[in-house]
Amino acid sequence: MLRAFFEQFTDLIYKQKCVVCGCSKTNEFLCKNCLKNVHNLSPFAQKIIEGVNIFCAFKYDENIKILIRNFKFNRRKNAAIPCAALLYDYFKKVCKQNNLDLNPKNSIILCVPSHPLRILERGYCHTELISKEFSKLSGIKTDFKIIKKVKNTLPQYKVRANEKAKNVRGAFKIYPNRSQDKTLILIDDIVTTCATLFEVISSLKEHGYNNIVCFTLAC
Ligand SMILES: [Zn+2]
Repeated sequence: MLRAFFEQFTDLIYKQKCVVCGCSKTNEFLCKNCLKNVHNLSPFAQKIIEGVNIFCAFKYDENIKILIRNFKFNRRKNAAIPCAALLYDYFKKVCKQNNLDLNPKNSIILCVPSHPLRILERGYCHTELISKEFSKLSGIKTDFKIIKKVKNTLPQYKVRANEKAKNVRGAFKIYPNRSQDKTLILIDDIVTTCATLFEVISSLKEHGYNNIVCFTLAC
């Protein structure tokens, strides 16, 4: 109850402030000035992991870094709204440029999940929040029951490069026989070393999910 109260309180304070610079001039979660200073990436696959195209909307530099950090660590839950809106704009460009027809009939949205303990700590699963907002914009349904994180891994940035793959090995459990006929639209915040996405994608493929496309905010 205390948490709910605290969250409502912070929501109120932050409601009309830009997640990046904190200004309240335009009543937007991400102000026009901050939006001008982000580095858009091309609507083509930035990476390919296990045969899956990874489309990343922005370069992981200054403003996007602040946006994602405030969203993940500073209880700026509402940042899910501008994040999803930016990602959806990018998604439409990608579909157009790559002749991808991803629609509510043939696709389903899921995200790279956090471990339940991490969610408890943070108060929310940030990738799930982006996915839910993205779902509202696209009309494509979500299914968060396909994949669960079962190992509370160390954050990848705290792990040495040669240990990253080991850190996430076996971290995800797949619940197959759900939406097998659909294309999975996998959503994540950032891709850095690819170790996490590699683990998620190969786990999904092992369980018969062969049509996957991945969208991330940044890389
Ligand atoms: Zn701003």
